Amino acid sequence: MSLRIVVCVKYVPDATGDRHFADDLTVDRDDVDGLLSELDEYAVEQALQIADEADDAEITVLTVGPEDAKDALRKALSMGADKAVHVEDDDLHGTDVMGTSLVLAKAIEKTGYDLVICGMASTDGTMGVLPAILAERLGVPQVTLLSEVSVEDGAVKGRRDGDAASEQLEASLPAVVSVTDQSGEARYPSFKGIMAAKKKPVESLDLEDLEIDADEVGLEGSWTKVESATERPARTAGTIVKDEGEGGKQLAEFLAGQKFI
Ligand SMILES: Cc1cc2nc3c(=O)[nH]c(=O)nc-3n(C[C@H](O)[C@H](O)[C@H](O)COP(=O)(O)OP(=O)(O)OC[C@H]3O[C@@H](n4cnc5c(N)ncnc54)[C@H](O)[C@@H]3O)c2cc1C
Repeated sequence: MSLRIVVCVKYVPDATGDRHFADDLTVDRDDVDGLLSELDEYAVEQALQIADEADDAEITVLTVGPEDAKDALRKALSMGADKAVHVEDDDLHGTDVMGTSLVLAKAIEKTGYDLVICGMASTDGTMGVLPAILAERLGVPQVTLLSEVSVEDGAVKGRRDGDAASEQLEASLPAVVSVTDQSGEARYPSFKGIMAAKKKPVESLDLEDLEIDADEVGLEGSWTKVESATERPARTAGTIVKDEGEGGKQLAEFLAGQKFI
């Protein structure tokens, strides 16, 4: 039977662009270019390598995001994934990690899966908790932060590198894993891959398709709330200390004045 892999990929605001909060204190996603979260490219890469080793495998890439999030799906398809699922609904505006994990879990159950692969964190929210919450919602084992991953004999195996030790972990399928940026460089899409991606299926789902009530997601359904946000002050020119024999003293005085020492 085919190994069904679902890779969760997030469309994130380009970190090199100018980013702002909107009036309701959610991230303003309309006025900034977005892209496939770089950390999720590692998840796609590991899915492709696992599929290469399997007799028969199918990779679905899944995102919860606005219309433009299709760009992230196309990139993953051009890397080699087989098909994509895009969950989009106006009522998702302001959904936090609890709501996002609910939507992903329902979409994954609808798609069917043996293995779910996530990135270690998104490059915008960077909570790093979504894979664990997702596994809990799906009621399957989680093996997170792997720098090496493989599938053998109905189980997912991998290595998690910590500061003091490396652990070898294993879980029976179905399971959720997350992979780190140490898991192996992600491939660039080839020209052939980019052309092939245009013909691959992208299924669109909304909250009704997933039987999720609008009050379970969005700002209303969120467990977290941003109370206030303040713009970072503009950069100032800085202070130049010229060493004319008293440079060290002046530096120490400057640092003490800023309460760094
Ligand atoms: C239009 C829109 C508006 C939103 N507004 C808010 C808001 O106001 N407040 C708020 O807290 N959150 C909001 N979110 C959700 C938020 O962007 C995150 O998706 C969610 O909170 C998870 O947090 P994280 O990205 O830090 O997850 P992490 O735990 O850092 O992510 C780990 C991994 O989970 C997967 N993942 C995370 N998010 C997604 C996703 N959307 N689709 C597919 N895979 C994913 C990826 O594999 C990622 O590498 C919004 C999302 C959308 C699409």
